[in-house]
Parts: sequence; structure tokens; C-alpha cells
Amino acid sequence: MVLARTNDACLEAFSPSKRLRFLYADVSETARRLAAAHKLSAPAARLFGKALAGLGLLGVDVGEDDEVLCFDADLQGPLGGFHLERDGNGHLRGHVFETRPETLLPSGEEPTDAALCGRAARVKITRVQQGGGAIRSQMSFAVEPATPDVVLTAFFNNAIPTRVVLSATEWDGEPDRVRALALQRLPGAEDKDFDRVAALFADGTVADQLAFDATLATMRDVLDLWDLKTGPTRALAFGCSCSAKRVFASFAKRPAAELRALAASGRTVPFRCHLCGREYPVGPSALASILRHLTPTKKEDKK
Ligand SMILES: [Zn+2]
Repeated sequence: MVLARTNDACLEAFSPSKRLRFLYADVSETARRLAAAHKLSAPAARLFGKALAGLGLLGVDVGEDDEVLCFDADLQGPLGGFHLERDGNGHLRGHVFETRPETLLPSGEEPTDAALCGRAARVKITRVQQGGGAIRSQMSFAVEPATPDVVLTAFFNNAIPTRVVLSATEWDGEPDRVRALALQRLPGAEDKDFDRVAALFADGTVADQLAFDATLATMRDVLDLWDLKTGPTRALAFGCSCSAKRVFASFAKRPAAELRALAASGRTVPFRCHLCGREYPVGPSALASILRHLTPTKKEDKK
């Protein structure tokens, strides 16, 4: 068991002389917590962590303080897809569709990112007003292959030349260091400067460094950018908006006949939040209370 040694956060950085911009996210603690809550296998946790780190990058540029940023992907591979959210307070939550995708691979096939994600991804990025409000914007696109780094690169490349590295190491079957770094070419940058740093993204240098140490001093050294400086750090942390009250409200939307049957059975029905894995037991007395508060039209529902 590795104790948390980092605080999850995201930030942007610049090299003014070379006109290069960087986005950075560390989501190690949140990835560890959610992988445990969702009981993810090590390969599922690795991909979940990379997608979550990607969401950390997205949140640097996208989303206001009163918005939830939703990052969805449907994948053709065994992982199936993921749904991730980041709210305006930097709270992260979400899940992958298959918790043990490697078991769905043909026997003998290595559970690489490419094998588990499959050939193509359909991606949706949505900004929703916080508190279950209106959708403010939504963009969809498809990419091949379907791995999270390809998805993130495609998203950012749409606006500005970008390279993305997502890194998720494990320790004892749990996510350890889960980090992301993006390189962007600002207007006025020279080809040779962008290409030199992009080569460090392509040859594994940046991935190796993220797995080890990603302090500003080290990154200046590794990227050979003496004037690299960072903007304000924004905190990221696990946080879900689920509550017993919301669970009861969602039960109240079920057909009255189903609720009456559940109440009559005398059983406690477990309700699991798919975003954070928390379980809420809904017992007979809670079901009876929900039935008492149903609207008259709902009570007449005989289905
Ligand atoms: Zn939850």
C-alpha cells in the first residue's frame, strides 16, 4: 500500500521564448480511490486512470466554475467505454463500463491499451450547468484507434497542434502515479522548437519522466526549456454529487407497482452510485416512505 504522496491538481505552463504551452494534470489519488471503489482490475485501472488524467487536461481549458464537464467514450474494444465528470470545484468521478476487460480478450492476447480499447472510439464532451441544469455545449467526434491518448490528442489538435502523453503506473495492483502532459504550439513558435519537444513526447522520454518525477525543475531540465514557468495550480480531488436524498428521489421515479412489490418483499435493495461506487441501502421503511410521498398520478400507475 502506497500512501498518497501527491495532491491531485492541474495547471498550465509556458515557455515564452519558444512559444510553447503545456497542460499538466496529476490525478493519482483520485484514480487510486475510484479504482478501489469500482474494484477495477489492474488493466482497467490503468486505462481509467489515463482517461481521468486526460479529463484533468481538458478541465484546464474547458468548463466554468458553475459547470460539470462530462467526458464520455464508447469504445469498440472489451473496455466498452467510460463516463467521467469534473465539476466546477475540481471534483472528479466516473467509471469504466467493464471492470475486468482483459477477461474478454482472446486467450493469450496481451491486455495492452490498444487491445482493450479496440479499433474506434466515439467521444462526447459535454458542458452541463451544475446541479442537473441545461447542456451548454456538446461536441462529438470519432477517432481510431480508441486509446485515451489518441482521443485527447484528437480533441486538442482540432484547435491547435498538440501532443499528449498519459502515464499510469501501478504498484501492487493499484494505480500509483497517474499523470498527463500536453504540449501545444502557440502562434509564432518555430517548427524546430516544437518538433524537438514533440520528439520527447513520441520517444517515451516524457512518459518515463511522468512515471518518476514531474516537478517544474525536472521538467525544465528534461524538456531543455530554461524559461518554463507555470500558471496557477488548480486542485483536483475525488468528489461525487450522490446522496441518500438523490437515491430516494430516483427510486420515486420507478413505477409504483414495482416499489410496492419491493416494499412487500421486506428486502433491503442496494443502490450503487455508478460514478463513485458508493452503496446506499434502501430498506423497507425507506420504500414505504417513498410510496407515501408519491404524487396521486403516480399512485394510480398500475404497470
Ligand atoms: Zn456517487
